[in-house]
Amino acid sequence: MAEKHINWFALEKACAKPGCPVCTIVRDRSARYIDNMLFEHVSDRGFRERYRNALGFCPDHARSLESYRDGLAVAILGEDILAHVLPDLKRGKATKVRDECPACAETARVEREFLGFLAESEDQALKDFFTASEGLCVPHYRALVTSVKKVPLWLRDFHERRFEELLRRTRNFIEFSAWGRQDDFAALSPEDKVVWKEIARSLRGAAD
Ligand SMILES: [Zn+2]
Ligand SMILES: [Zn+2]
Repeated sequence: MAEKHINWFALEKACAKPGCPVCTIVRDRSARYIDNMLFEHVSDRGFRERYRNALGFCPDHARSLESYRDGLAVAILGEDILAHVLPDLKRGKATKVRDECPACAETARVEREFLGFLAESEDQALKDFFTASEGLCVPHYRALVTSVKKVPLWLRDFHERRFEELLRRTRNFIEFSAWGRQDDFAALSPEDKVVWKEIARSLRGAAD
């Protein structure tokens, strides 16, 4: 139960922020994971082997390395990868990628954990703060629907209503953008005038 407790608080905190709560958690956790790997596990054999097999982090996760506070750890990992691929490159060959980006694997694990936790929760306080949030992005709701045997009714209702509403507002935005509908457009709420940003964010998922 101790672990559930941690997840509950993590969700509560993420729900108070804008955007999909699971995206927020994933972003925080993957930053922490990379930090932890570079700081504590750079000489860990298991991690180094996976890192080498993956030819390093994916571009998304590797982006943070250049601004990382520990240049030595980044250099050690980079040296490893470049020394590993250079002989192949010299022979005009591409070194095989044999493993998934370790940070992506960690992300997938965290996503499964939180989606499972959410689907199993019967806690009213959790339902309250969750339904006061933006809810899951489309990719995370899709992951929930396909990974959980039965999506609880409260979660399903909440998301279906949210997505229906987003669709309706987006259609209005499109319709009122037409020539001659300037008055209707002007009457839209400030949020509805930029609903295109909201639908883009909801469909993209992932963290900024
Ligand atoms: Zn998300
Ligand atoms: Zn990655």
